[in-house]
Parts: sequence; structure tokens; C-alpha cells
Amino acid sequence: MYHRPMKQPFCNPVASQGTRILLRATKYDGAAHWIQPFTVVSDDGVLIVAQYRARTPIFTSRGEFRSPYDSLVYFWRDRWYNVFRLSRPNCPLALWYCNITTPPSFDGRHLGYVDLDLDVAVRPDGDIQLLDQDEFELHQRKYGYPPDMIDRAERAAIEVRDLALRHGFPFSEG
Ligand SMILES: [Mg+2]
Repeated sequence: MYHRPMKQPFCNPVASQGTRILLRATKYDGAAHWIQPFTVVSDDGVLIVAQYRARTPIFTSRGEFRSPYDSLVYFWRDRWYNVFRLSRPNCPLALWYCNITTPPSFDGRHLGYVDLDLDVAVRPDGDIQLLDQDEFELHQRKYGYPPDMIDRAERAAIEVRDLALRHGFPFSEG
């Protein structure tokens, strides 16, 4: 059984609009994978919506990265995925990028989760792709993912794909 990093997910702090927060995604061994700053748009205690401005530095395990996309990101405290709505500044939606991860922990400033490799890309024309299955399989062996976590990750990929297929929130937002 995989133990979630957070004991009481709904007792965690709720962020107010405008709060600057830092996403720190790790791999299963705890190594930093992706560190990205956001500003909170809203937080209802379960769903944190936050934005990232294009070209702001992001730390990645492969070096610094500056995304060309403005991002509006949906982090649910109780889901095994998040959704990044990507668009170039002053342009329409380019892509929805969904990361399969453990449910996030949040202490009011720092949002953390384990990146579980799998991603789902949803294009405005309705094309949906499951990405990085090879990496997911490699890391299952490399890190020894618990079977329960593998199962949750695979189910999360199907869940977010199905949500996109039926244009459920946030894919209803354009
Ligand atoms: Mg990936």
C-alpha cells in the first residue's frame, strides 16, 4: 500500500488569491524533478488553480527551462493527476498537458508531489495522446514503484483521458 505524504488532506492550509507558491515535483526517490513558481488564482480547499507567466525560470532536472506558454494549472488535493492549460501569451489554447502524479501536499507555500512519468496531452482539435509509457515502465523497475501506486497511476491516466473526452471541467473551459 502506498502511503500518501499527507495525513489530513482537507485540513491543509487554503491559499488566498495572489499567493505565490512553488511547485516542487520529485521523482519517487525524492530527487527534484521540476520546480516552478505560480500565483494562486483560487483555492476552494480541494482544488488550487494557479497561473504561471511565460518565460519565468523553471528548474528542471535537465537544467533551467523557460516555458513559452502562459499556464493555468489545476491541482486537486485528492487526485492523481493535474492539468496544465497552456497558451502562448495573448493566444488561444495550445494544449492541455496532464501530469500523472501522487496527490499533492500543500503547506500554504509549497506544493509537492511525486511525478509518476505518465502524461496525457489533449489538443484543441480533440486529439488525445498518452505519453511516456516507456519511462513509466522503466521507472517501475528502477524505483520499485509499489503495485498499488502503479495501479493508481494507470487509472488516473484513464480518468483524465475520459474527463477530456466528455469535455468535463476543466476541459470545458476552452
Ligand atoms: Mg512525463
